[in-house]
Amino acid sequence: MFSEARNDLTSMRICTNYSRNLAVVMSLNKSMHPRNRYKDKPPDFAYLASKYPEFQEHVHTNLSGRAVVNFKEPEAVRALTCTLLKEDFGLSIEIPLERLIPTVPLRLNYIHWVEDLIDGQKQPRRGIDIGTGASCIYPLLGASMNGWFFLATEVDDICFDYATRNVEQNHLSDLVKVVKVPQKTLLMDALKEETEIVYDFCMCNPPFFANQLEAKGVNSRNARRPPPSSVNTGGVTEIMAEGGELEFVKRIIHDSLQLKKRLRWYSCMLGKKCSLAPLKEELRKQGVPKVTHTEFCQGRTMRWALAWSFYDDVIVPSPPSKKRKLDRARKPLSFTLPHVAVKELQVKARALGCTGRHPLEAITTLVEKTLTELRVLHKRVPCREQEQSLLLTAMENTWIHGRQKRREQMRQLRELPRAHQSAAAAATTPSLAQNKHQDATQEPADQQVTDNNAPSVEGAEVTNTAGDVDQERLEKVAGDDVEMTPGCSTTGPMDATSETSSKRATSPGSAEHFVLKCLLNVLHEESDAVIEMNWVEGENKDLMNQLCTFLRNTLLKAVAKSGTE
Ligand code: SAH
Repeated sequence: MFSEARNDLTSMRICTNYSRNLAVVMSLNKSMHPRNRYKDKPPDFAYLASKYPEFQEHVHTNLSGRAVVNFKEPEAVRALTCTLLKEDFGLSIEIPLERLIPTVPLRLNYIHWVEDLIDGQKQPRRGIDIGTGASCIYPLLGASMNGWFFLATEVDDICFDYATRNVEQNHLSDLVKVVKVPQKTLLMDALKEETEIVYDFCMCNPPFFANQLEAKGVNSRNARRPPPSSVNTGGVTEIMAEGGELEFVKRIIHDSLQLKKRLRWYSCMLGKKCSLAPLKEELRKQGVPKVTHTEFCQGRTMRWALAWSFYDDVIVPSPPSKKRKLDRARKPLSFTLPHVAVKELQVKARALGCTGRHPLEAITTLVEKTLTELRVLHKRVPCREQEQSLLLTAMENTWIHGRQKRREQMRQLRELPRAHQSAAAAATTPSLAQNKHQDATQEPADQQVTDNNAPSVEGAEVTNTAGDVDQERLEKVAGDDVEMTPGCSTTGPMDATSETSSKRATSPGSAEHFVLKCLLNVLHEESDAVIEMNWVEGENKDLMNQLCTFLRNTLLKAVAKSGTE
C-alpha cells in the first residue's frame, strides 16, 4: 500500500499526529461535501469491530477506553476501507496491500461533486473512471449508489485483475466495464471503439508524482514499506506519471480537445494546489467555455478538483466561497485564568470528586460540569499533551438564563423613555466593562463579546487571541485523506452528558439540529490556564461569544465564592 501517496501526503502526518488531533476530523470537516454520509457522522469503530471480526483484529482500546485503529498499519487501513464499503454500501472488495488503498470519505466527496456537475444523482448516467485502481472504488460507489454506468480504465495488470474481480463479485458487471489501456494515451484510446456514446462525465485520480525522488522524498505513508519501485513496477505506475499530475491532466485536457462533446464534463482530482492555476490557464488558452473547480479540505493538505465542459447548457457549480476560507482563518476566542484562580479551581474540582492532579484536568472537569448543566453535549477529544480538548455541540442556547433575560427586560423597561437614544449604545456596551484578567482586546468587534444577556460578572471580556497555532490544529483535524477514519477512530457515539441531553441527542451524528459546534481547548500559558474556543459551525458566532463569556464568568464566580467561603 503505497496508498494514497499521490495525494495523501498528510495521511502520514495524520497517522503520526494521530493521538493529537484525529478524533474530531469528521466533526470539524466542514469542507466535506454536505451529502457525504461521514460528514459529522464518523463511523463507530467499536460497533464495526463487534460486527466484523476481520476488522476487530485491527481495533484496539486505548487508555481512555476508546476503540482506535492504528493508521500506520496498511492492513488496518485496508480493513477499515473494506468494512465501511461493506457496512455502508453493501460492497465486498479485495485490495492488495501493495496497491493504492482508497479511503472512503474522500472518494465519496468526489462522487458527490460529480453528482453536482451532472445534476442528477439518481438518473442513469454514463461515466469514465481513468485509472480505476485495484479497488475500482469510484465505479463501485457510483454504480451502487446512483446506478451510473462506468467505463473504468487501468494500465496496471494487477489493478486491472483486481478491479475486474471486484466488479464481478459485486454483481455490477452490467454497469461497470473495466478495460486495460496502454500507458501512453488516456481517454482517446479508451473511447476509440465506441464512437457513438456520449458520456456524462469522466473522473480521475491521477498518478501524483513526477519521479521517484519526489515520491520517496515526500511519501512515507508507511515508513516500513519500501519505496514502490522495490515492491513492483505496478506500484510505480500507480503513483507516478511522467511530469506528475500536471502533465497527466494536461494530457487529459488535450484528449478532451479532440473528444469535445463526447463527454459533458471532464474532471480530475489534483493533489497539489500549484497544479490548479496552470491547468486552468491551459483550459483558458484552449478556449474551453466552462471551467470550475472545488476543494476538498483534508486537514493541512487539501485536494482540488477541476472540471471543464464544452457544453453551453451545463450547470456549473460555483467554486468554494472565499468567505469559508476567511471563516477558517478566524482566530479562536480565549480567556485566561490566572495562576491564583487555577489554584482555587483545583480545590473546587477536588471537592467535586476530581481526582486528577493536573490543574488543567481540574479546570476541564469544572467546564464539563457547567456544560452538563447547560445541556451542551461535550466530548473529550485527543489533543496535544498537556492540553485538554472538548468538542461541544449545543442543541439550543441554554446559557442565557431566565434571570438574565428578566434582568434584561427590567433594564429595557427602565430605559424605555430613553430607549431611542440608547438602543445603539446598549448593543455595544455590554455589562463587561471591567476585565481584571483581560487579554489583548484590540480585535474586531465581531470576535468580542457582544452579549448583553451574558451574566453580568466583571472581568467577562472574551478576546480573540493570536491563537494561530490552534487554528492550524483545527484545520489539521478538519480532515485528511484518512479523513474520517481517524476521526472516527476515537469517536463512538458521543457521550450523553446529562440525562436531559441524552434524551435530546446522544451523538454528534444524531445532533442534526444543533445551534453551535465548537472545539474548546484548555491549555497552559506559563502558570496560567487559557481556555480557547474554536468555531466549528452553527447559527452565528455570537453564540460562541456568549458561551465563552458564560464559561468564564462561571469559573470566575466559583473562584470568588471559594474565596469568601
Ligand atoms: N482511482 C483509484 C486509483 C487511483 S491511482 C483511486 O482513486 O483509488 C491512479 C491509477 O491510475 C493507478 O491504478 C494507475 O495504475 C492508473 N494509471 C496510470 N496511468 C494510467 C493511464 N494512462 N490510463 C489509465 N490508468 C492509469
